[in-house]
Amino acid sequence: METLLRETAERAATYLEGLKERTVFPRSDDLHRLDELAGPLPERGEEPAAVLAQLDRYGSPATVASAGGRYFGFVIGSALPAALAANWLAGAWNQNVGLEVASPVGTRLERVALGWVQDLLGLPPSAQGAFVTGATMANFSALAAARHAVLEKAGWDVEARGLFGAPPVTVVVGEEVHVTLLKALSLLGFGRDRVVRVPTDGQGRMRADQLGELSGPTIVCIQAGNVNTGAFDPATAVCERAHSAGAWVHVDGAFGLWAHAAPSRRHLTAGVENGDSWAVDAHKWLNVPYDSGMTFVRDGRHLRAAMAGAAGASYLPVSDRGEPTEFAPELSRRARGVDAWAALKSLGRSGMADLVERCCLHANRLAERLRAGGHRILNDVVLNQVLVSFGSDEQTLRVIEAVQRDGTCWCGGTVWHGTRAMRVSVSSWATTTEDIDRCAAAILRLAAP
Ligand SMILES: *Cc1c(COP(=O)(O)O)cnc(C)c1O
Repeated sequence: METLLRETAERAATYLEGLKERTVFPRSDDLHRLDELAGPLPERGEEPAAVLAQLDRYGSPATVASAGGRYFGFVIGSALPAALAANWLAGAWNQNVGLEVASPVGTRLERVALGWVQDLLGLPPSAQGAFVTGATMANFSALAAARHAVLEKAGWDVEARGLFGAPPVTVVVGEEVHVTLLKALSLLGFGRDRVVRVPTDGQGRMRADQLGELSGPTIVCIQAGNVNTGAFDPATAVCERAHSAGAWVHVDGAFGLWAHAAPSRRHLTAGVENGDSWAVDAHKWLNVPYDSGMTFVRDGRHLRAAMAGAAGASYLPVSDRGEPTEFAPELSRRARGVDAWAALKSLGRSGMADLVERCCLHANRLAERLRAGGHRILNDVVLNQVLVSFGSDEQTLRVIEAVQRDGTCWCGGTVWHGTRAMRVSVSSWATTTEDIDRCAAAILRLAAP
């Protein structure tokens, strides 16, 4: 065991060092060689060291270099040194944090990390948090709490009786709602297509003046950080309108809520603290290893009611404060709090502010380079997201393909209000100013007519 782990650490360090010069997307030869890892299940096992050697030889070159500093696809973070190392140690610990008695340390670190995140994001300290796999499940969990709360108020026990015959619940979203929030709604039985969609403005922000009349059991979902533009829904105005009608407000802040950690960006999140529940990712801007996200609910009673399940498995412990599993979808799960704790401990408040601010400045620098090169930036670059057009839709598509093939960086595409655009998301702690300049130069070279 000991030799294997030391060798593996060596391999990992060599891998990460190699990312500095590698193309970001793997070469097709390297992808073809993945066949070496396939084939039928071997009859006889192999030595662990030999297994790891194959994994490194064929697996490592076939990875997407999103752990490095030149990956700008989707909204994908890297892993901070302390977070990656803590994740390894936690792997050795192999704790199950579903129950406190199964892992006092895992449970404690989750609580500490959740408290620190509440502090950094400006969420009420009394809110109840839980670790989940990512913002999809964070949205799901928070909306399950919302479902409980609005139906309880209507005299209906949704956990026991289900949605059949229940009073109808109106769910309001912005026109620019993230697809995974719709997925969460469909998993919860709300139906993707029966949501009320509120028009958005040119940056994708929900128009509070278009919210319409709200009545009866209602959940309003707003967004802190549009996945294309980085824009924020007007939380203060929406919360005021929604709360005066007795509605629940959920905030999908997968990456955007982290803006609160940086003093210069904090104004963007104004009013989100008035929400009733929040979803945020840790694997995006906090830069912890996949997968990790957090859900927070102002009145933890509703989250517990939604997640606790039926009482009565006599082998499972119960406690007044609640076991971790009573606030999350899973029973067994890994100790995500360990990575998050280590990330936050290594950054501190100032380091987190710096990480967020740096990514935003990088995004801005790249946008300015491309604009200076004669290309059109389609969004107000308020955060870490940039949308750029290189002319016609065909030209933009051609440039995106060329950028992806070139490998200096990796950017995806999108359609923004009818116009094709290349998306740039700077979410990694590892990105440097040199990376930005190098990538800007490559994009400008590839976009040249
Ligand atoms: C990324 C994202 C999600 C989904 O998060 P996952 O971690 O991929 O599950 C939801 N909402 C927004 C706004 C996002 O950016």
